[in-house]
Amino acid sequence: MDSMTHTNNFQSVYIHVPFCRHRCGYCDFTLVAGRDDLIPRYLAALEREMQAHDQPLVVQTVFFGGGTPTHLPIVELEQLLKMVTRRFPLADGGEFSIEANPLDMTEEVIDVLHSAGCNRVSLGVQSFQNKHLQTLERDHQGGEIPEIVQRIRARIPNVSLDLIFGVPGQTLVDWEYDLEQALACGPTHLSTYGLTFEEGTAFTTRKRRGQLTEIDEALEREMYALAIKRLQEEGFEHYELSNFARPGYQCQHNLAYWNGSPYAAFGPGAASYLQGTRRTNTRSVLGYLSRMEQGASVIAEAETLEKEHAMREALYVGLRRLSGMDYAEFQHRFGIDLQEFAAETIQRLVRQGLLAADEKRIRLTSEGIFLANRVMAEFL
Ligand code: SF4
Repeated sequence: MDSMTHTNNFQSVYIHVPFCRHRCGYCDFTLVAGRDDLIPRYLAALEREMQAHDQPLVVQTVFFGGGTPTHLPIVELEQLLKMVTRRFPLADGGEFSIEANPLDMTEEVIDVLHSAGCNRVSLGVQSFQNKHLQTLERDHQGGEIPEIVQRIRARIPNVSLDLIFGVPGQTLVDWEYDLEQALACGPTHLSTYGLTFEEGTAFTTRKRRGQLTEIDEALEREMYALAIKRLQEEGFEHYELSNFARPGYQCQHNLAYWNGSPYAAFGPGAASYLQGTRRTNTRSVLGYLSRMEQGASVIAEAETLEKEHAMREALYVGLRRLSGMDYAEFQHRFGIDLQEFAAETIQRLVRQGLLAADEKRIRLTSEGIFLANRVMAEFL
């Protein structure tokens, strides 16, 4: 095991819960499907991993992601939440988020979440249309969502919905329907992700065999543009490339990543960023469990970023925020003038109309948003 006891300079904690009922065809996340027998071993391993930090430590944000955290049986779910919040109690006004699968959200589960202090639920809706949910291999029906959201909101009012666009066969009208249905549920926050075909997924294999066709790039762009337009019209702020929030409901945990704040992360595949070092745990769930049980290190990669690298990465990540990168923020973090550090790249991107620079900051232009990956890569 990484025997060092880490200094507690972080205020954000991520817990990876690597269990799902079934692996959806497009998903390449770290998880096991149909291996609920491993849950007790996982809880024991996680507890052991968290012991490397001095505690209890009061934190600003806790985020349970996966996998599907709510897939855990209720007793284990409660055990997990208690174990984490005992070690990392939430500060007043802090954010406690959990990713949830719609069909798991029974009154009983919502009760357990609420009692544990959870104050934000991120619901994996993905679509309101059964044909697309079937393509995505999700287990719920579109028509079930509004009632599930109302049930959650009655106890935990801060609900975010995840939607996917660019599903094979999806039209712009289909996507508009999903956006309208999502808005009608009254969420505080929406995340919209364009479907990607990742190496090693069933979707990519099916695409190669001609069984699935990626949607046209121009249509995908139209879908993204429609989301930006409709959600802004409804009073949501487009604050990060894929994220929209009602005023005051930006995801504090994710902002910590984009702002370059330190964070601790636990579980298989989890990546932490502490004292300038990024450590990533092994992505093998079984490997994580057995290494933890043997007292061996679960860290697969550790990289201490050189200052130059850290600055480039800060730009790469920070420009995901639509507010962009503030010169004062950059100066404060690195003691260097951003306009001097990346003068040539900034000027070129400004000339191309992809970046806007004013006296305070640089940020993506409305055109730059659509080519964000290309723009941000210029800083690496
Ligand atoms: S439910 Fe989410 S995490 Fe689980 S397999 Fe499907 S997409 Fe992946």
